[in-house]
Amino acid sequence: MIEKQIVIIGAGPAGLMAAHQLALKGAKVHVYEQNKAAARKFLVAGKGGFNLTHNQELSSFNQNYDADLVKEAVQEFDNQKVVAWLCDLGVSTYVGSSGKIFPTKNFKPIHVLNAWLEALKRLGVEIHYDSVFTDFDDSKVYLKKNEDLISVPYSTLVLALGGGSWKKTGSDSKWVETLKAKHIAITPLESANSGYTTLSTYHHLQGQYLKNIKLSFESHSKVGELVFTKYGIEGSPVYAMNRFTRKQPFPLVLEIDLKPSLSQEEILEQLKGATKISPVLKRGLKLSTTAINLLKTLDKESYLDIDTLSKSIKRFTIEVLSLRPIDEVISTSGGVAFQALSDNLELKGFANVYCAGEMVDWEAPTGGYLLQGCFSTGYRVAQAILES
Ligand SMILES: Cc1cc2nc3c(=O)[nH]c(=O)nc-3n(C[C@H](O)[C@H](O)[C@H](O)COP(=O)(O)OP(=O)(O)OC[C@H]3O[C@@H](n4cnc5c(N)ncnc54)[C@H](O)[C@@H]3O)c2cc1C
Repeated sequence: MIEKQIVIIGAGPAGLMAAHQLALKGAKVHVYEQNKAAARKFLVAGKGGFNLTHNQELSSFNQNYDADLVKEAVQEFDNQKVVAWLCDLGVSTYVGSSGKIFPTKNFKPIHVLNAWLEALKRLGVEIHYDSVFTDFDDSKVYLKKNEDLISVPYSTLVLALGGGSWKKTGSDSKWVETLKAKHIAITPLESANSGYTTLSTYHHLQGQYLKNIKLSFESHSKVGELVFTKYGIEGSPVYAMNRFTRKQPFPLVLEIDLKPSLSQEEILEQLKGATKISPVLKRGLKLSTTAINLLKTLDKESYLDIDTLSKSIKRFTIEVLSLRPIDEVISTSGGVAFQALSDNLELKGFANVYCAGEMVDWEAPTGGYLLQGCFSTGYRVAQAILES
């Protein structure tokens, strides 16, 4: 093991986890990264609340992934192992009210990353920055370094090049063309954990939240919080619909249940005999001001007709025009197809070349599941290399 020449491309969570697990077993690891610093997207993820994994019980945790291989990887290196690994780095964590697992308040994202990089340094992992991966063959990887083209020999190569969103963090997905040229099957990268652009009708609700609503597309639904933005809607139930709408022709219709706890009949019962609608909506049905404002976008006749109104409370239709552009979304679906990979995430036809992290064709919601998937696939690749 120790004499292997292990090269990892990409200093994001997946690549660094593979490096860490290998180095813990005594391997000498070289990581090459095109940026001047490691894990920029990891730091970006930390800006909106740094949820590193989730506290959900494993059987339901795993349902967040659309790929069996990633489910297996997460089972091997699960959320509790992530917490233990963070603890070994000296990073304490807590479970937030939503079940998300965060570092304790004294650890900013940069502190977590620095603790990780320090641990890697102590284990002898060398990270080479400003090194742009351009290609590989069966024994060498080719990189651009300060305008020079260099080749680095490898006996084991791990590609952990990330997805295609937030290009400014380094995840520019240029690897797609390199791998395609080698006839490696790639599922096109598309927006995931993405908001939707809607008709302009809702623009006046910008910045307002709908809490505890149920969003549905056909038979798929998700309860959670939705926010109106200048272009449309965002939020976890919105992101959950992405994978079901992605292959559908736009525009399409989503439905919002503004009062999931009551049936349409129960709502209708409360509206019957009301002289004024708004007080019943507000005090009887306890709908939020945002929900009421949304209902007021109905034409007057529909708003005043209690049959139509009760139906709209349960199934408010919202027409969406498109997913958001790939560069601004949280993650991408698609990537190296599983048909091109062995169970150990080794590229078929390319012995000792592995893929890990978001560049592989799986998707998951935000809330810690993406990072967990990256950690776990990085871990799985390291175990496969250690056992080979
Ligand atoms: C705004 C935002 C919020 C997020 N919030 C969350 C969240 O709350 N919870 C969660 O779980 N996840 C979240 N994520 C997602 C999470 O950060 C990513 O899924 C994760 O960082 C992917 O890890 P990775 O190692 O696969 O790839 P990346 O983190 O993208 O790392 C890939 C690395 O490879 C390098 N690279 C790419 N091409 C080359 C090349 N040709 N040569 C050399 N190096 C190269 C890149 O520079 C980069 O450093 C968020 C992401 C964003 C953008």
